[in-house]
Amino acid sequence: MIQAIGYATKSAHAALKPYEFTRPDPKANEVQIKITHCGICHSDVHQARNEWNNTLYPCMPGHEIIGRVEKTGSAVKKFKTGDIVGVGCMVDSCKECPSCKEGLEQYCESEKGFLATYNGNQRMPSPENHTYGGYSNLIVVREDFVLTIPQNLDPAAAGPILCAGVTTYSPLRHWGVKSGHKVGIIGLGGLGHMAVKLAKAMGAEVSVITTSKEKREDALALGAKEVILSDDNADMKKHKSSFDFILSTIPQPHDVNPYAELLKRDGVITIVGCIAPLTKPLDMSKLLMDRRSLGTSLIGGIKETQEVLDFCSKHNIQPNTRLVSVDKINEAFDEIDAGKIDFRYVIDMATLAEKHEDKSILGKIGITSH
Ligand SMILES: [Zn+2]
Ligand SMILES: [Zn+2]
Repeated sequence: MIQAIGYATKSAHAALKPYEFTRPDPKANEVQIKITHCGICHSDVHQARNEWNNTLYPCMPGHEIIGRVEKTGSAVKKFKTGDIVGVGCMVDSCKECPSCKEGLEQYCESEKGFLATYNGNQRMPSPENHTYGGYSNLIVVREDFVLTIPQNLDPAAAGPILCAGVTTYSPLRHWGVKSGHKVGIIGLGGLGHMAVKLAKAMGAEVSVITTSKEKREDALALGAKEVILSDDNADMKKHKSSFDFILSTIPQPHDVNPYAELLKRDGVITIVGCIAPLTKPLDMSKLLMDRRSLGTSLIGGIKETQEVLDFCSKHNIQPNTRLVSVDKINEAFDEIDAGKIDFRYVIDMATLAEKHEDKSILGKIGITSH
């Protein structure tokens, strides 16, 4: 066992605080990673605050992990000590079912499904019996679930590609977005801002659909051709039947009907941000009259995650990020929850070492874990 420290919360209404725990020693096919940076995803907020009613406490979020390989198991082939690597939303799956064999581990068909980086049920005996994420100083992961971070990507900014990046890249690819397509991105948060950059790099003409007037300039700066205000009826009407593909990144239940009308015949609107019932039933007349479809998509497989990292490297795409110190996580959560930001906060994990790691592991300060 390896002594570790991170930030975790013990209940839906408590703040995240320093938390000491142990990680297992790396097995033959596993890699031990010293975490240098971890992005703060909207899912982290949902999970920590039990908004999906399935949180296992203590909850230590974080699935946009960047770090340096510290140790490798004897059978590890792809990585060596010192490599800059990433870990996204999954740390294991059966690797045997049809979905896993196709590289779509996020749809693993085994009874347990994929093992989530945090809040996942461990397959190994463990004192806590669920996984702890990247808001910590180190993590041990099976090499098949570790990603290579291309050299020209800034390790301090690359983390969000592992969740926000692949979550938007996967549906853009699956529905064949390409040059000449008109693409609408609903919502300009962590996911939305990556979607704009990626769709643009795929050659599409991109519009941002938002309720936030104040995000207009940012949307244009990211490469959007225009900004449509979804609460302005005239603006929405003007763009009726004009998009080939629309991606909704709204992280809460919402009404899809007004957006469906923006699609051309045979257009598809895909939802990636919302894991809950929609606020209004789908009015089928909005879909069927023009053979429109509603799609859904969940994160992305490991192969596709490496693909989006390489795509970002090739097209010089970096997420827009702001570094925060580990003791500012709770403030960052509040801002994300309020939908105020159109960039990604990334935790600078060096601040964890400065503030807690050395002292607490030596037992010199009174941070307790239980
Ligand atoms: Zn995420
Ligand atoms: Zn599987």
